[in-house]
Amino acid sequence: MSVNLLLMGLPGAGKGTQAANIVDKYDIPHISTGDIFRAAISNKTPMGIEAKKYIDNGDLVPDDVTCGIVEDRLNQADTKNGYLLDGFPRNINQANSLEVITNKLDKNLDAVIEINVDPKVLVERLSGRFICKNCGATYHKLYKKPKVDGTCDVCGGHEFYQRSDDEPETVKNRLDVNIELNAPLIDFYKERNLLFTVNGDQDIAAVTKDIDKILSNLDS
Ligand code: ADP
Ligand code: ADP
Ligand code: ZN
Repeated sequence: MSVNLLLMGLPGAGKGTQAANIVDKYDIPHISTGDIFRAAISNKTPMGIEAKKYIDNGDLVPDDVTCGIVEDRLNQADTKNGYLLDGFPRNINQANSLEVITNKLDKNLDAVIEINVDPKVLVERLSGRFICKNCGATYHKLYKKPKVDGTCDVCGGHEFYQRSDDEPETVKNRLDVNIELNAPLIDFYKERNLLFTVNGDQDIAAVTKDIDKILSNLDS
């Protein structure tokens, strides 16, 4: 049995945080287009250099680039038991492309989980976010501190960074861009009877519990 999932939510809704739990449980890869772009930027690949121009403005990377990356990734062998997509699709054109890609690969989506959070909360979430340099685990200065101050819970690393696109000037444009594109996408998946919405305005453990409930109902 395989489980093909898409996690949706505005920037800061908690997608990365919740994805970590889901992929552990189902042993499927976490495919985050944002993570793929950040890795390409830090490796200074041509694609990364191109993508950085958009990301640092809070704009979307062009669809042809992004859809090509996703198609290549879904073609890899580690998706045979399923996958968790995070951050793609971001607009209807990408959603249509994803349907074409997953049809071709016989890996259609089983469910779309939307983490719904009041946009007013998101600026605070994004400005407090920091990330382990070594393993990518995500923390928050108020809501998810490492158990031992200055030490990553997951890998024991001591170095952290803040994303350049979490700067206040970028965050506002990023939220505006995504809020506008989000509603039609939600309708797109509602029409296909794939959409499950969870309240992301609860603490991290409560959101995890709600998602687990949805996923265990899919199994049966
Ligand atoms: P996304 O991947 O959707 O952009 P993240 O998972 O990186 O979001 O979460 C954004 C920030 O908010 C991080 O600093 C994270 O630790 C924190 N966070 C995630 N979920 C919650 C929650 N339910 N309550 C409070 N803070 C949260
Ligand atoms: P967030 O924490 O804002 O949810 P992501 O890590 O998903 O951020 O994405 C960071 C940035 O990478 C986005 O603001 C955008 O510039 C780019 N990006 C990520 N996914 C996509 C996509 N599907 N289409 C276009 N650009 C994307
Ligand atoms: Zn770490």
